[in-house]
Amino acid sequence: MTDRIETLAVHAGAEPDPHTGAVVPAIQMSTTFKQDGVGGLRGGFEYGRSGNPTRLALEDAIAALEGATHGLAYASGLAATQNVLYLLEPGDRLLMSDDVYGGTWRLADKVWRRYGIETDTIDLRDERAVAAALAGDRPPSMVWIETPSNPLLKVIDIAAIGRIAADAGALTVVDNTFATPYLQRPLELGADLVLHSATKYLGGHSDVIGGLVATRSDELAEQLRFHQNAAGAVPSPFDCFLVLRGIRTLAVRMDRASASAAALAKWLTERSEVSAVHYPGLPDHPARELVERQMRLPGAMLSFELHGGEARARAFAAATRLFTLAESLGAVESLIEVPAPMTHASVAGSALAVPPSLVRLSVGIEALEDLRRDLEAAFDASAP
Ligand code: PLP
Repeated sequence: MTDRIETLAVHAGAEPDPHTGAVVPAIQMSTTFKQDGVGGLRGGFEYGRSGNPTRLALEDAIAALEGATHGLAYASGLAATQNVLYLLEPGDRLLMSDDVYGGTWRLADKVWRRYGIETDTIDLRDERAVAAALAGDRPPSMVWIETPSNPLLKVIDIAAIGRIAADAGALTVVDNTFATPYLQRPLELGADLVLHSATKYLGGHSDVIGGLVATRSDELAEQLRFHQNAAGAVPSPFDCFLVLRGIRTLAVRMDRASASAAALAKWLTERSEVSAVHYPGLPDHPARELVERQMRLPGAMLSFELHGGEARARAFAAATRLFTLAESLGAVESLIEVPAPMTHASVAGSALAVPPSLVRLSVGIEALEDLRRDLEAAFDASAP
């Protein structure tokens, strides 16, 4: 059709229905499909866990958006993560970025470790350390990248890490939740698998939990498809419909939210209450040149540290009115949270622990001036 994401986001997975002409994919609730004689499947569908037309529309859409040949949908981002980790065997090692969503770390450390898969964390911006880890006695068979990372917005060079991993025979997985395929296309940069919490920007409206994986590898897709069905963490047809509906406006939402995030990040750097701002679009971000090479825009997530420790961070986050104090991110409405006691509580005391005074913003699509005023009022209201 085209490889322009703005157009793909609107049309991928949505051929008008040949029977009715409906331009929107139907929510197909049937859990089973009539067979014309044993094994005579009409549209390739047999049973709702193994395949469903609404889910297929979503899977086709994420494959198109990520420049993949296969897309897979799951009941949540973590269900997608779980299914990617099924690619590992007991005794395998996983090398993970030292700044990832707390739940990703918890799954690796608290669940998969019990099944004989060890996870090491590392600053994936340090390419020498990555090469050394991959050349060690027991090299990892998978490298897990999250970029920009949650919550410190570290930016990792996907092409460079993917090359080092491939040379060592390891798979590269990129959690592309923060960037979305509109801003960054990891498979084009050499990653083997790309993963999303569709709960975030792809859904875009804080009303659906979902996960997606895309790949260009027939072999990986076959294994993933097997486990998708065997383990059964599939999304409902209605949830697939909601994610597809969210994807239609992805490009315009990302353009607007990213522009506002850039303006707010700059403004925050000028505030005396703020000790550090983490946003990939700032001129002094340590990976500025890489951001320009790897991402269309720096995105709509940012975090900042406040003088006054966790108490000030908590008071500030409780004082905003338009920025809703809540976990999650990536929706039309702006959200605020304090990662240490909230989204990243599960990494407390580990090498992944985050600064206690850190505040994270998910910038939505409201009027920029209203968002800025909301933050300004919160600075006043939370002053010691
Ligand atoms: N990856 C990232 C970057 C996330 O932020 C999250 C959730 O916050 C997940 C994965 C997990 O997704 P879900 O909550 O849909 O299971």
